[in-house]
Amino acid sequence: MITAEQKPIQEIRETIAPFKRILVLGCGSCVAECAAGGEKETGMLASTLRMAAKMEGRDVLIQEKTLDRQCVRDFVILLDDMIERYDAVLSLGCGAGVQAVADMFPEIPVIPALNTEFLGETKDQGYWVENCLGCGECMLYSFGGVCPLARCSKQLLNGPCGGSMAGKCEVREDLPCAWQLIIDRLDKFGGLDRLERIYPPKDWSKKQGGGPRKIVREDQQR
Ligand code: SF4
Ligand code: SF4
Repeated sequence: MITAEQKPIQEIRETIAPFKRILVLGCGSCVAECAAGGEKETGMLASTLRMAAKMEGRDVLIQEKTLDRQCVRDFVILLDDMIERYDAVLSLGCGAGVQAVADMFPEIPVIPALNTEFLGETKDQGYWVENCLGCGECMLYSFGGVCPLARCSKQLLNGPCGGSMAGKCEVREDLPCAWQLIIDRLDKFGGLDRLERIYPPKDWSKKQGGGPRKIVREDQQR
């Protein structure tokens, strides 16, 4: 999933200050899972902003709504019959959600309330970790299901650096050395021979360099 965190409230208040009728728009998917932009967080942010406006004696309409997904046109279109009531949308979607809403309603400013962070996994309640960079050509088979691009601090593809110590990364004490995990896992499944080849530098052209990526699947189109 995509993870995000709410921007500082002062920053949010500054960006919405010019507007009088604001829709605070949550998203019920990834950002709900990481407790940044779901229905609950959207309601809390809207209440905080309403209270702040009231204390300042400002007459501002702040209402909230949460879509199942802000990055899917079929859900964004549900705003069609209400968007005219507002002069700005404060989006608690990820960067893709913010842009999807802005793309569909170009006449209204869509302001981000979150900082979008990484593709990750929920490890525990309130604990998310990055484990994929979306490189466009997955190498997890070669590395026993542990991604050295996302999880090794130096993105090494041909074994650990000299700083790996007692299974920990030299960059941070709380970080397992990805290469220790790779070797342990490949060893467990009899796959250490996958490390006998030399892996060339990562071809990042499948991630960046050719402009924004897209996937077109004619078999999925209506
Ligand atoms: S190899 Fe690429 S696609 Fe696979 S987990 Fe790592 S970054 Fe993600
Ligand atoms: S200690 Fe391990 S995870 Fe950290 S940079 Fe070196 S090889 Fe990568």
